[in-house]
Amino acid sequence: MTERRIGLIGGMSWESTRTYYSLLNELTAASLGPWHQPLVLVDSLDFSEIVGLQRAGDWEATGRILVASAQRLERGGATVLAITANTMHVNVDQVVANVGLPVIDIREAIVGELRERGGTSFSLLGTKYVMEGDVFTSYLAKAGVHVVVPDEGEQRELQRIIVDELTQGIVLESSRATFLAIAENCRRRGGEVVGLCCTEFGMLADESTASFPAIDSTKAHVRALLAST
Ligand code: GLU
Repeated sequence: MTERRIGLIGGMSWESTRTYYSLLNELTAASLGPWHQPLVLVDSLDFSEIVGLQRAGDWEATGRILVASAQRLERGGATVLAITANTMHVNVDQVVANVGLPVIDIREAIVGELRERGGTSFSLLGTKYVMEGDVFTSYLAKAGVHVVVPDEGEQRELQRIIVDELTQGIVLESSRATFLAIAENCRRRGGEVVGLCCTEFGMLADESTASFPAIDSTKAHVRALLAST
């Protein structure tokens, strides 16, 4: 059997890619003992290019960049891949179609953990693309999950916090308070489990200590990667 080598399409933003890298190593050491580390390749992209294309709505161009990244990782010996951002799962089908490796879908990881907990409703917090688009909402709906998204003003706030702060390494207490208030509002509107569906949201809230049930997409994704063969 080939040894598992995890390929991360990273840099979206690097703030969350370093979290993936830390978590992959921390969880492996926690289960196997000191110095056990997973084999990892990171293809770190220039996020400014991705942000520009997101703003222009040019998802074909982002798809080409992600496919090229996936193919570099495949050539480099990766045996399994991950797109390390929720938003960029908009291109997951294109990536899957253009490599011969399994791609661990962050949405599947999230839904899997929601099911394990018996959760049936979900507050979807992420970038505006995640909240407005159907890449997440229809996937969750197909899985039988009732989805609640923040209202328009809250969506604007979350997008601002992600773009102007978290992806630039800025963590403000005021934004943490805003984030938690938005999560509570969504829960009041019926989204029992809060989805931290931006890979930088772990900078604001910890799924294990939050005052509400939460799933951190980054952690769920890392757990799914480590469970893959
Ligand atoms: N890391 C973010 C996510 O999980 C993306 C930030 C962005 O694409 O603007 O969606």
